[in-house]
Amino acid sequence: MFVAHLPAGYVLTKKLQNRWQMKSYLLFGLIGSLFPDVDIFYFYLIDGRQTLHHEYWIHIPFYWLVIAIVTHVIIHLFGKKQYHFAALFFFVGIFSHLFLDTIVGKILWLYPLTDNAYYFFEVPAVHGFWVFNFIFHWTFLFEIFFIVWAVFIFLKNRYLQQCKVSTQS
Ligand SMILES: [Zn+2]
Repeated sequence: MFVAHLPAGYVLTKKLQNRWQMKSYLLFGLIGSLFPDVDIFYFYLIDGRQTLHHEYWIHIPFYWLVIAIVTHVIIHLFGKKQYHFAALFFFVGIFSHLFLDTIVGKILWLYPLTDNAYYFFEVPAVHGFWVFNFIFHWTFLFEIFFIVWAVFIFLKNRYLQQCKVSTQS
């Protein structure tokens, strides 16, 4: 996925907030939904584009599973119950990122059992500029879908908030 990680993280976190009737920790969901792509900086600035960035540990679900379990154990032992939600939103964001990357990108879902990478659709390299290969492929409709959905939820929430303010005043 290219540009819709943040909108998708927003949609998912908002849905979970609604389900659990809470208003906090949206930021944790948003950060989680973007976080694995910080390896782009490492890819360009340090690694000299030697490794596919989806093969760095930060794009491998196994490591996140371990981190999620350890985090929840630590919170259970020492933290407040509330922190569980913050952590949960963050890790839901992380795993939504990895799942959405799987649409056209290769993710090592079964690592360390196997080094095979899994993906739903292959994007053929037909344009000289690699970004165009993704933007002009039909799978980019998924990205547009999430962007439209996020904007819809955002505007709906704003509208509902304004209605609330005007009835209170
Ligand atoms: Zn990614």
